[in-house]
Amino acid sequence: MSNLMSKRAVLVAPEQPIEIWERPISLPQAGEVLVKVIMGGVCGTDVHFWRGEVPLPGPLVLGHEGIGTINALGEGVTTDHAGVPVKTGDRVYWMPLRPCHSCYYCTVEEDFTLCENGMADLFRDANLPPSACYSEYSSLHAGMPFYRIPDDTPSEAVIAFGCAMPTMLQAMERLGGVKVGQTVVVQGCGPVGLAATLLAKAAGAAQIIVIGAPEQRLAMARRLGATDTIDMQVMPSAEDRLQRVHDLTGGEGVEVVIEAAGAVDAFGEGVQLLAKNGRYVVVGLWSAPGTVAIEPRYINNKNLQIIGSALYSSSHLYGAIRVAQQYHETFPMADAVTHRFSLEDSQKALDAVARLETVKAVIVP
Ligand SMILES: [Zn+2]
Ligand SMILES: [Zn+2]
Repeated sequence: MSNLMSKRAVLVAPEQPIEIWERPISLPQAGEVLVKVIMGGVCGTDVHFWRGEVPLPGPLVLGHEGIGTINALGEGVTTDHAGVPVKTGDRVYWMPLRPCHSCYYCTVEEDFTLCENGMADLFRDANLPPSACYSEYSSLHAGMPFYRIPDDTPSEAVIAFGCAMPTMLQAMERLGGVKVGQTVVVQGCGPVGLAATLLAKAAGAAQIIVIGAPEQRLAMARRLGATDTIDMQVMPSAEDRLQRVHDLTGGEGVEVVIEAAGAVDAFGEGVQLLAKNGRYVVVGLWSAPGTVAIEPRYINNKNLQIIGSALYSSSHLYGAIRVAQQYHETFPMADAVTHRFSLEDSQKALDAVARLETVKAVIVP
């Protein structure tokens, strides 16, 4: 066991080819869990990392959306973080972020998504055992939340939405939810937009208009509950799209807009799409710098609410497993996994995601 070697895909420096490193792994210490990775989601954020849009302290192992089986349990670990008993061979989904429980946001605001130290595990030295998932094995450090995946829930239904589903669960919470019969625009049809579409449908929205591209992703949005889609490649003018939304909704605009586009221009357009008393949640611009011109009087005169939502916490990761368990037969969730790559082909996976060829790509180590 102590002689076991583990391969990992390492981002050595921005825009450099991903390297495969092999390093020994050791048995878990007290409170830790060693996981054999089944699949790791490839996220748009990984592409932002690869491009160097997030400052890198040194070589790191990519991947923050991992599902694996428990290979070994450290002393004292008998349950997951929801109190469910666990044993070797069980499938688990884990939280890549670990709040420090000692900063202002953790202890005073009790908002773990704003923890000042919560990202440390993402930037671990690539020579050390990773908790990242572009790896044959992952080491879950003590205090890193993980949850058993129920036997009736396919891994694909969970990983198809990756960090997008917990991200949207928090965004919906901060938005105050979508109510039965409401009209909704979802901007974007990547995993975050698709998760938004599914959750709006499950909440009983009457009309869900998804704006995005390419058509392959819009087709998936329709299968997940979109009542109408607007292809930005076919209708590139924001003015035309506003008119189209007005035509579809009787000229008033919509009650809820969910920004999941990841492009700053979406923001100005989203404000315009809202009806009076509309609510707008911005969830896709986390790694999209830039400014945009808007007319603030619309916010004033139409009683609009604009809400931001950053990252997610362990309760939302747990919720994402519950969504997959409850809805994987109602909606074709697992079908959103369209591409599988070996660990050695991690670079090809990133390239395919960057070119928007995938709905969801996964690494299968
Ligand atoms: Zn903290
Ligand atoms: Zn992600």
